[in-house]
Amino acid sequence: MLTRPTVSISLVLLLLISTSGVIYYVQRTLLEIEEALPIALSKQERDIRVLVYEMGRLVQDIEFARANTGLTSFGVVLRQTDTVELFLDKMSREYRFNDMLGISMIHARINPAVYDIKNWLTNGIFNFEPTSAHTLELVEERAKQAYEEAELLLQEVAQTAVDRLTVQAGRIKSFRSVMVITLAVLTLMSIGLVILGLRLQRIVIALKDSEEQIRYRANYDSLTQLPNRANFVEHLHEAITRDRRNNGLTALLFIDLDRFKTINDTLGHDYGDELIKQVADRIRRATRETDVVSRLGGDEFTVMLTNVSDEIHASIIAKHILARLSQPYMLDGHEVYSSASIGITLSPIDGRDVNTLLKNADMAMYEAKDQGRNTFRFFTSEMTDRARQFLEVDKDMRLALSQDELEVHYQPIYDTQNHKLVGVEALLRWQHPQRGLVLPTDFIRVAEETGLIEEIGQWVMRRACSEVREWLKHDLHPEFYLAVNISMRQFKGGFDKAQLQRILYETGFPADKLLLEITETLLMDHDTRTSEVLAEFREMGVRLAVDDFGTGYSALSYLREFPVSTLKIDRSFIRDITQSKSHLGLVQAIIAMARGLHLKTIAEGVETAEQGELLAELNCDMVQGYFYSKAVSASEVEKLLFSDRPHVVAVRSV
Ligand code: C2E
Ligand code: MG
Ligand code: MG
Repeated sequence: MLTRPTVSISLVLLLLISTSGVIYYVQRTLLEIEEALPIALSKQERDIRVLVYEMGRLVQDIEFARANTGLTSFGVVLRQTDTVELFLDKMSREYRFNDMLGISMIHARINPAVYDIKNWLTNGIFNFEPTSAHTLELVEERAKQAYEEAELLLQEVAQTAVDRLTVQAGRIKSFRSVMVITLAVLTLMSIGLVILGLRLQRIVIALKDSEEQIRYRANYDSLTQLPNRANFVEHLHEAITRDRRNNGLTALLFIDLDRFKTINDTLGHDYGDELIKQVADRIRRATRETDVVSRLGGDEFTVMLTNVSDEIHASIIAKHILARLSQPYMLDGHEVYSSASIGITLSPIDGRDVNTLLKNADMAMYEAKDQGRNTFRFFTSEMTDRARQFLEVDKDMRLALSQDELEVHYQPIYDTQNHKLVGVEALLRWQHPQRGLVLPTDFIRVAEETGLIEEIGQWVMRRACSEVREWLKHDLHPEFYLAVNISMRQFKGGFDKAQLQRILYETGFPADKLLLEITETLLMDHDTRTSEVLAEFREMGVRLAVDDFGTGYSALSYLREFPVSTLKIDRSFIRDITQSKSHLGLVQAIIAMARGLHLKTIAEGVETAEQGELLAELNCDMVQGYFYSKAVSASEVEKLLFSDRPHVVAVRSV
């Protein structure tokens, strides 16, 4: 890039120098040629010719006067002598500074003769009268001499004129060649300059283009062409300032697609991108020209509605957007369903600065998600309270970890056919000094969001392994196992073979007695690390169960891909199994499929005897639920295990 301007600058300089040189040369040469133009030459030559002619006439007049003596003819000679003298005078004046042909020779060669003739014709010679034959004879002789001299001079002058013209002709010729070459070079250089100019112009245009592109990229999202976060923040800031002056109301809608990650993971990123584009288009069409729609990133969009009259106005638009977004999408021939959750906040009612408003709208959006998705929620001050609570729970939980307030309870799992106790699921419990027993649903999400779940997860694993290890020393069911939940965040946070091996080693727990409960979303993550780590667990002898099976975005192909041994059918299917035919059908189908894939099945949340019986009929392998037992403390499980009828559940109605 640097060389181009340097080349063009030196080319322009060269052109300037050579042009000035050519102009100087042309000026000088033309001046010289002009001075020596044939016109000037021939004028001087003609004057000499006139002089020769006048001299010739003088000679003739003298001859005539000698033949016809008399005053008249003498007078003619005198007049002709004056004429010659005047002409000589004129010539010497004219050619004093511009004698190209050597006319100054006249003075040396002719003037003395004319002087003598004039003198003799006036004063006579050697006592002879001016009109005497002797004087005229001498005058005639002198005049003839001068005439010959003049003729000779004329010849010389003519020759000199020819020589000079030849020289000039030569100079003109070479001048012409020089000019042709110079002009050719100048033309080439000009062409070069024009080409360079065009190139430079193109570079300048390209630079301008890229500058515009950079500016565009800094402000717009490349996938959807919508304003990006920075641009949106600017718009929102302007709107807030305007509202302050005009007492206006602005609504900020925070839109997040429901389960976008699952769609992205199962169908691939190209489809994900296409979906985002179509979503952007639908939001744009659901809003007015003056509303600012932007993409904050990922599957998050915002809409800024200016001059909003009230909450109803904002909710009508939110409903409109939700309705459009829940229509099916066509992605390369596939029909895909999606929906969104929207959080709404109003300025200046809920906040007067960009950050507060964005935070509010985000919180309201999460609330909409919690309320079952595909809906919208307005921001309320209680949400801020909840956020504060969130932080408090996080702080309390860290304390709980260090102050030993956490414990592990175990929910027994039974064989459906013989009702023997075949395993326990470790479930975390928190004995809060003020709040009493706190269930995981109240704090696991916080722990996942703050990342504390990684530490807690390890703690549960270590505690459960060391407690259950003691029970294994007794004569239990040969296939008795311990199930431990592993959260997605814990897994992503670095839970791996080395970590697990260390815990098993420290607690002395056998790997083949461990069942790790993982979620469907983890298996659909398409992450190579996930499959590698899971394969390593399997190699260690650890078994894997899919927890809450059926609640994720069902793509069953992962069951073949991962070394899963067990499916835990989600509680929501079991709950209605005796009333709903479709649920019954679904559970039947899951069990049949699991058998086909040589997987074991556990039904979660069995609450009644009918459910238990039905599951036994359906050949579900194992059951777990309140009907048999809630999760209980380690000592209570021990009682169950080592009572009179070990391994067998006291089934109430069976
Ligand atoms: P989960 O793994 O699906 O655990 C089963 C949940 O269902 C437990 O709730 C259990 O008490 C409950 N449950 C069992 N039988 C019945 C029943 O018959 N009816 C009803 N209504 N509920 C029943 P819990 O202990 O509150 O745990 C909730 C969730 O928290 C668990 O669901 C699991 O996802 C998570 N969790 C619990 N402990 C841990 C842990 O140590 N680590 C991780 N990562 N997650 C855990
Ligand atoms: Mg579980
Ligand atoms: Mg479950």
